[in-house]
Amino acid sequence: MSRWFRNGTLYLLILAAFFILLFRLANSGQQQIEIGINKVALDARNGLVKSISVTSGDTMLRVKLTSGDEVLSRKEAGVPLLDTLAQLGVTEDVIDQYGMKINFEPESPWGNWMAILGSLLPLLLFGGLIFFLFRQAQGGANQALSFGKSKARVLSGDKPTVTFEDVAGVEEAKQELIEVVDFLREPEKFIALGARIPKGVLMVGPPGCGKTLMARAVAGEAAVPFFSISGSEFVEMFVGVGASRVRDLFDQAKEQSPCIVFIDEVDAVGRHRGAGLGGSHDEREQTLNQILVEMDGFDTDTNIIIMAATNRPDILDQALLRPGRFDRRVVIDRPDMKGRRKILDIHVRGKPLARGVNLEVVAKQTPGFSGADIENLVNEAAILAARRDAKSIGMEDMQEAIEKVIAGPERKSRLISDEEREIIAYHEAGHAVVMHSLPHCDPVHKVSIVSRGMALGYTMPLLEDRHLHHKAKFEDDLAGFLGGRAAEELIFGDVTTGAGNDLERVTKMARSMVTQYGMSKKLGPLQFGEKEELVFLGKEIGEQRNYSEAVAREIDFEIKRIVTEAYERAKNALIENKDKLTELAERLMEAETVDASEFEALMV
Ligand code: ADP
Ligand code: MG
Ligand code: ZN
Repeated sequence: MSRWFRNGTLYLLILAAFFILLFRLANSGQQQIEIGINKVALDARNGLVKSISVTSGDTMLRVKLTSGDEVLSRKEAGVPLLDTLAQLGVTEDVIDQYGMKINFEPESPWGNWMAILGSLLPLLLFGGLIFFLFRQAQGGANQALSFGKSKARVLSGDKPTVTFEDVAGVEEAKQELIEVVDFLREPEKFIALGARIPKGVLMVGPPGCGKTLMARAVAGEAAVPFFSISGSEFVEMFVGVGASRVRDLFDQAKEQSPCIVFIDEVDAVGRHRGAGLGGSHDEREQTLNQILVEMDGFDTDTNIIIMAATNRPDILDQALLRPGRFDRRVVIDRPDMKGRRKILDIHVRGKPLARGVNLEVVAKQTPGFSGADIENLVNEAAILAARRDAKSIGMEDMQEAIEKVIAGPERKSRLISDEEREIIAYHEAGHAVVMHSLPHCDPVHKVSIVSRGMALGYTMPLLEDRHLHHKAKFEDDLAGFLGGRAAEELIFGDVTTGAGNDLERVTKMARSMVTQYGMSKKLGPLQFGEKEELVFLGKEIGEQRNYSEAVAREIDFEIKRIVTEAYERAKNALIENKDKLTELAERLMEAETVDASEFEALMV
């Protein structure tokens, strides 16, 4: 605002200067001609002068000529004008002869000044212009300095937009944060009991699970000022800017305490120090150091709580996690079934649902979905409902949306020859039949040969929320993934590229079993390989081999054995159920999609 104002003044000034210049130029056209005193005398003696006005102090003669023109004559070198005229022959007689009038202009106190000002004004304006330009340039420098100002947005707790009501499925985290809010509301209560205030709360969890949302809810509930800034906003092109922004942010916060400072995506500044590619003293490191300094700097009665969020706690600098800094960790994890149910409730608010919609079932069918996925799912369902001109969102929209979110949109238009359709049908049927016949596989929820996203067809298991995997389950799952390939071989005696994706997953899974989970008897309960990551990029770049060539051979051998065994099991399951396989494949070619109940009916 003030900058605009300043700019406005500047333009006004330039405009004024321009007009003055123009004015003077225009004036100069009709500006009075100055002549020497000799010429005045000559004209007077020739009777060409009508009147002469003598300005005060005898400094200037204003001479009116008979032609109507007016000329000036100025005093030069201290020679008195009137006396000179007389000396030059303009005597009383001459004056009388031609009826010339000699007036004496009264002394005007500002007439002279006006003249002086008139000539000085452009100069003043010019000076002013330069002054302002200079100021502007300085302002530029100030702007460079204002880089150092934090860009934190302040939310006050007056009008909460998000409350704890809007966050579901993360009850423990909510509980912890409610405590923090309580603390800010009534610090005396806690201090009286000698409790130390948490200084920093670090929210960790996978993306889209509501960390940012939770912070906004805290802002809404706490009824204290809430400074929100993203880690990446500290970092600019110039070294030192981040640190000064941190300083500014904390200065602001201290003025407004009690308050909350929220640094979102803190990993952008909080990575291990000394890990940057550009040496150890890079910008981010300075910024991080400043954050640490500030956090140590204010004492317990400052009543500032710092919240931060990250989905990469593993790459955070250890110093940030030390007690006295982010001493509370709140895990905001993917919601379980009950959580998903509640999140669904939140996001279907204000959306008309048809009778048959069972959110319980939707929640069951979406294991692994984050809050953001669920929001997306509900939105997709609404769009689908709108597309078929329905007045409310139906269960079929929900189902379709789930599949869309998981596997991408249906591609009914993809041209597939009958021969290919048959292969795809047997491939998918193979997955489904193997999964059905092995005890540890998840129940089949849907089989389809309608292509979606990149996949030609898909078999959707009804997954459960699971935190531990048994070896037996891994083995059955492997067989399930290989069921497609096994069916192709069994029925057509040949294999296709259709199993490429399956094989990739199988290989990864088998490798993890051997090298991560110690599930190979031969190699024992050991982990092989250290994950190496380039901290600066926050990315895994490969695996460090910390085992011998001999062990590497053995690992490869074990992986191969596990996969081959799984393949044999899949094939055997299909041989045993060959009639079911054919039946299902034929049904698929006919109807394209077979759902859970129809599948169960087919399989008995
Ligand atoms: P992140 O953990 O990556 O910061 P966000 O808080 O930005 O995730 O979540 C993105 C969106 O997903 C939110 O705006 C909200 O609509 C939805 N969402 C995520 N988690 C939840 C949750 N636990 N309850 C309700 N909505 C959620
Ligand atoms: Mg976020
Ligand atoms: Zn497959």
